[in-house]
Amino acid sequence: MTLIIDCHGHYTTAPPQLAEWRDRQIAAIGEPAAVPKPSELAISDDDIRETIEANQLRLMNERGNDMTLFSPRASFMAHHVGDFQVSSTWAAICNELCFRVSELFPDSFVPVAMLPQSPGVDPATCIPELVRCVEEYGCVGINLNPDPSGGHWTSPPLTDRHWYPIYEKMVEYDIPAMVHVSTSCNPAFHTTGAHYLNADTTAFMQLLQGDLFEDFPGLRFLIPHGGGAVPYHWGRFRGLAQAMEKPLLEEHLLNNIFFDTCVYHQPGIDLLNTVIPVDNVLFASEMIGAVRGIDPTTGHHYDDTKRYIDASAILTADEKHRIFETNTRRVFPRLDALLKARGI
Ligand SMILES: [Zn+2]
Repeated sequence: MTLIIDCHGHYTTAPPQLAEWRDRQIAAIGEPAAVPKPSELAISDDDIRETIEANQLRLMNERGNDMTLFSPRASFMAHHVGDFQVSSTWAAICNELCFRVSELFPDSFVPVAMLPQSPGVDPATCIPELVRCVEEYGCVGINLNPDPSGGHWTSPPLTDRHWYPIYEKMVEYDIPAMVHVSTSCNPAFHTTGAHYLNADTTAFMQLLQGDLFEDFPGLRFLIPHGGGAVPYHWGRFRGLAQAMEKPLLEEHLLNNIFFDTCVYHQPGIDLLNTVIPVDNVLFASEMIGAVRGIDPTTGHHYDDTKRYIDASAILTADEKHRIFETNTRRVFPRLDALLKARGI
């Protein structure tokens, strides 16, 4: 028996009141008197039930996915908007909503937190929200944006001490971070088609160049969207690491870096599973997300990634089990503990 855990889902279908409140918040930047209160946002449990049952839960049931690690809509994080206070209020609202989803559908959704990052602001300011999300909401991981400027890359690389306050807390709580950017406000980068994949690739290269895991041997990052260009260019990264006199990538990075399966065609999934060791691959679909259409060559949704794993001729049944369940429970120990407490 395998529990099919999708480690990458966002509340992209939140009730429209959320976006309306956010629009008011953004419109009020620079006008303190016009700032809307969080209490002015009214979303009922029925509103939440309706948006989940008609969307994510319906598709999970259709596809045979049992559980989703659920975080706020990534493109809506928009950390570049406003200052820390704006991000802080917004993150608190979005995280609370995902927590409510997990309370209403505890068998199907487990929350993952966004952080109230803001460009140029010390990441240590994110700690109170992170603590609240883990301790009060039971979040089992976080999403960490390596570029809160939204496509201008003004933050230091992930290996810089700038980020250490977050890492120290991650180690303390034994939670992983998915490295996940948000909306691109740089017109040169399409948000989900370029900025996301660029960021996945960039984050990996930053970690390759540094020696972060010497300082934090237990730190774990999940690189989404199949790792951007990383698996496809594994030879390049191996060669660069060799030229920089780094250890082999298996030793240098693969105790700490994991890739999800948000790759939307069979050859891509097959490449991922040919190149990356099976214990570093975690099942995910990012449904309902960037690519919502049906592939005319298969007749199925592009993001129905379970089909590609099921159909893989490269993976054994045991390896599929590890990708669907075991690896995710190992990378997210708080999820494992939650499931064990439920006898799963
Ligand atoms: Zn995502």
